[in-house]
Amino acid sequence: MVVLSQRGSDDPKMYDLSFMYTKRCNLSCSFCMYNSGPAVNDAMDLVALRAWLDTVDMNRVASFGIYGGEPSLNLNEYARIMDMVAHLDKPHFVITNGSWSKDYECMMRFLEFCAQYHIFIVISGTPEHRQHQDRTILEWLAKQEPDAFRLKPEEENFHPMGRLAGKIPFVCTDKCTWWDRALRIAVQPDGSIIFQNCDGVYPVVGNIWEPFGRMDECIQKMRVDGFSLVYCHYESLLLKQVASAK
Ligand code: SF4
Repeated sequence: MVVLSQRGSDDPKMYDLSFMYTKRCNLSCSFCMYNSGPAVNDAMDLVALRAWLDTVDMNRVASFGIYGGEPSLNLNEYARIMDMVAHLDKPHFVITNGSWSKDYECMMRFLEFCAQYHIFIVISGTPEHRQHQDRTILEWLAKQEPDAFRLKPEEENFHPMGRLAGKIPFVCTDKCTWWDRALRIAVQPDGSIIFQNCDGVYPVVGNIWEPFGRMDECIQKMRVDGFSLVYCHYESLLLKQVASAK
C-alpha cells in the first residue's frame, strides 16, 4: 500500500521536488500549461540530473514527484530517475492524465511501475482528460486502493501559461511569499527549475548546472524581498499596491 504522508510538508523550508523528464504527451489539451503534445520530443539530461542531485540537501526534500507531459509514455526514463532517489525513502507521487486506463497493457505497465517505486497516483479530472479515461476502471481502482490513488475533481485551477498564456485572467495573491508549506519546485526537460507556488506563470529560479544551494538561497531571499526579479506580474502587483496606497 502506498500512502502519501509527506513529513515536513508543513514546513516552507522544505521542498516538494518534481521531475519532468519530457513534456511529450499523447494528448494536446487546450489548457496545457506546458504546451505538451505528441510532437514534443524533449528529454532531460539524466547525467546532469544525477550530478545535481548530489548537491541537493535531501533533508530539505519532503517528497519527489514525476510528471510531464504524460509520464506513462516514458516509464524507462522515469524509472532511471526513480532509481536515483528511491533509496532515500521519501514519499513519491505521479500526476497523470489517466489515459492508460483505456489500454489494458499500458495500464498494467503503469501500475506495475508505480507499485515498484511506491508511487502515489494523482489522476487529473478535467473534462478534457476524462474523455480519454476509462472512468469505471479508475473509480474502481480508487475504491480498491484509496490510499494509493487520488481522482482529482472535474474542475481544476488552470494557469495562464502554456496554451492558456494571456488567455485567462488571474489574480496574483502573493502566494510565492505567503505559502507556508513545503515549496513546490520542478526540474524541466531542459534542466531549468521552476517555482510552482504561484498563481500566474511559474518562474525559472535555477537550473541543474548550478548547485541546489544557490537556487535555495535565491528562493529563500526572494520570499523575503519579493519575487520581482523573476515574475513579470509581481512588480505590477507592487505598483498596484503603491498606486492604491496613494
Ligand atoms: S494530458 Fe496533461 S500534459 Fe498532456 S497535453 Fe493534456 S494537460 Fe498537457
